[in-house]
Formats: sequence, structure tokens, C-alpha cells
Amino acid sequence: MALYVQKFGGTSVGSVERIKVVAEKVKGFRDAGHQVVVVVSAMSGETNRLIAMANEINDEPTPREMDMLVSTGEQVTISLLALALHKLGVPATSYTGSQVGILTDSAHTKARIQRIETDEMRDDLDEGKVVVVAGFQGVDEEGNITTLGRGGSDTTGVALAAALGADECQIYTDVDGVYTTDPRVCSKAQRLDTITVEEMLELASLGSKVLQIRSVEFAGKYNVPLRVLSSFQDGPGTLIVAESDQDEDSMEEPLISGIAFTASEAKLTLLHTPDVPGVASRILGPIADANIEVDMIVQNVAPAGDYTDFTFTVAKGDYKKTLKIIEDQVIPDLGGGEVNGDDNIAKVSLVGVGMRSHAGVASKMFRVLADENINIRMVSTSEIKISVVIDEKQMELAVRALHTAFGLDKSDIESE
Ligand code: ADP
Ligand code: ASP
Ligand code: MG
Repeated sequence: MALYVQKFGGTSVGSVERIKVVAEKVKGFRDAGHQVVVVVSAMSGETNRLIAMANEINDEPTPREMDMLVSTGEQVTISLLALALHKLGVPATSYTGSQVGILTDSAHTKARIQRIETDEMRDDLDEGKVVVVAGFQGVDEEGNITTLGRGGSDTTGVALAAALGADECQIYTDVDGVYTTDPRVCSKAQRLDTITVEEMLELASLGSKVLQIRSVEFAGKYNVPLRVLSSFQDGPGTLIVAESDQDEDSMEEPLISGIAFTASEAKLTLLHTPDVPGVASRILGPIADANIEVDMIVQNVAPAGDYTDFTFTVAKGDYKKTLKIIEDQVIPDLGGGEVNGDDNIAKVSLVGVGMRSHAGVASKMFRVLADENINIRMVSTSEIKISVVIDEKQMELAVRALHTAFGLDKSDIESE
């Protein structure tokens, strides 16, 4: 007998028919003698629909009310799934995040899980019940409903698996595993049997939304066996593994494991800023004070003692606010300068632990992009990734060209 935490995403519970299919799947595991905790998302499109309604009423909705609103999506699917299980003769009880004891901090819309009470869930499991939990939500110390950020049901799943010491956390979604890149953009992408926690963290943080980054952090920290699978077809999916668990003789480590991309950032450049100590902090300080996260930063080398240009990226949603801070606060403080903004950019990133021991990945990447006539606006690297900022219009072309050039296309690997 094993204990599984199974999370089903929005598409997997997107209709009454799909919910019935999920119930059948869960019943299968229970009939085989396993204990099952199910975490569900809201029906696909529902969270977006709720957010759009709020924005129609108030363009600056308070985070507390947003959490109150968006958490309702998951409350619908837990009860429908419990009812579908009852119909199949499976005892099941649904719980909201608050009822099941998922305690978070009070950072509405991006709360972090602090503690999970497991007693009630264990009692239910011991009584042979399936426990159905609303993903994406928790409760803070004062009893306010909180949510864990978009895609947060993944994190609920992995956190519950960690708290319960589950044998595996299974993330059922609309693709049959983690691919070398988003299969919806690159038809030659292929499923990976395994991927390391470290690589998955990079892919998730660089835009691959197949797993929310915090879920991967949890899996790494608490050693939760984590698998991504399709809720539509059977298959082994992709297992997220610690690097040391990878089968050493299975193959030579590939240079690049995956390509992530995102068009959700914007770029700002401050032209003609004085090249003296303290300027970076005078530019970024007011932005940090407004709780805006900065991602990439590039400062040009100035001719001695002269002026320089300072470029950085922020989330597209923070673009207008950042531009205003620069114009109203930073430029007056610096006593001059000019700001240029562009929110039609994309970030494309190569990820792979194999690049640690190989030089030349960056130069090959730049050559491939040059051959496609793609201009690189910014570059940033770390031990296992290289990211470039390019024009948003060229994003998909760049992803496909890099996928082929780095030998990730389906036919290449199959023919090896
Ligand atoms: P769910 O609603 O089940 O949580 P998501 O839409 O959040 O599903 O995540 C699954 C989607 O992630 C896929 O449909 C796919 O388009 C996208 N995706 C992005 N990068 C990858 C990747 N490397 N491998 C698999 N899917 C990816
Ligand atoms: N329903 C939430 C969202 O759309 C959480 C999730 O699906 O994981 O972001
Ligand atoms: Mg998701």
C-alpha cells in the first residue's frame, strides 16, 4: 500500500465529464489498495475569469479581496470531485485550504506555506476515505484566506506530500511529462524520462509553467518524489530527481536539457546616467521600495569618468509603474537622464547541468541566433543556464532554431 498525493490541473478538471474521468482514475488507485489525497485546481479559465471581473469593477483591487475571490474556483472543483467519487461508491471528503490546516504567511496573492496540520487528513485516510483538497489556497494566522501565486496548486500538492510523507506526488496535467521545451511551441520537443531538481528549478523560474517553481523547491528541500504525468493518457511521465540519483551510466550527460522562454517581462534603459558609485542603488532602490522585482541588469562600461547606460527588466505587469518611478523619482534625483522602455521583449534560456563542464555553449547560442538574424539585446548567465533577451516577435523562431541546433529534436535523439 502506498500513499499518493495526486494533483489535477485546470484542464484535467475543466468540465463535468473530465471531473468524472478524474474520479475514475482516483478510484482505480484506491481499488488497488492505495491511500489517495487529491489536490485540484479551479476549472480551466476560471481563475482568469474571476480576476477579469474584479478588474472590471476596480483597477486596483486589494490583494485580500482578490484572494477571497479567486479561492472560490477551487472550492467548486473539490466538491464536484467528491460528489463524483461518491457516485462511484468511494467515500471522500472535500476540504478548503483553511479547513485542512494549510497555514501561510499573510502575503496575499503570493503567500508562502508555513505549516500544515495533518491529523484530520490522516484520520480520514485511516478510515478509508479519499481526501480532496483545494489547491492554491491557505489561511493566515488571522483567519484570512490567502493564495499561493498563479499555478499554486502544484505547490499545495508537493507541500501536502512532504507533510504526509507520501510515497509520490503526482502532478497530472494536459501534457504527458516535462519536455525539452513547451511542446505547444516546438512540435519536435520530446518528453524527458527524468530531469534534475536543479534544472527543473531553472526551467520553472525562466518561464516553463508546467510546474510552479515553489513546488520544485519543496520537492528538493523535503526530498519528495515528484512526477509529472498526463491525466488524459497512461504513461511513465517525467520524474524530477536529485542530481545524484541520475543513472550515471545511462548516457553521456546532455549539454542542454531544456529551453525555457517567456514574453512576460519588459525592459527599461536609463540613458546617460553618471558613472559614479551609488548610482545603481539610487536607480533600483525606489523600485525595490515599491515592491517591484528586477530580473536582469546590464550596465554598459563607460569611457573613463563619463556617463553610462543602465538597463534592467521587470515583469510586464510592473512596467508602467516602474516607468513612472523612473520619470518622477529617479531622473530628478540623478539630476538628469532619459528613459527608454520596451515591453515587446522575450527572454529565451538554455538550461542544463551539462553546460557546467563545457565551454562554448554561449558562443554557439549567439551564432545560431545570428544565423536567424535575431538581435540579442541582453545576456545573463549562471552555472547551468544562459538567457538572452530578444524581440518578442522572434521568440518562437529562436526556440525552434536553438532546439534543433543543440540536438534536442525528436528525430535526433531517437536515431542515436
Ligand atoms: P495545469 O493547468 O495542469 O496546471 P499548466 O497549463 O499550468 O497546467 O501547465 C502545463 C503546460 O505547461 C503545458 O500545456 C505546456 O504548454 C506548458 N509547458 C511549458 N513548458 C513546458 C515543458 N518544458 N514541458 C511540458 N510542458 C510545458
Ligand atoms: N487556479 C490557480 C491558477 O489558475 C491555481 C492553479 O491552477 O494551480 O493559477
Ligand atoms: Mg499549472
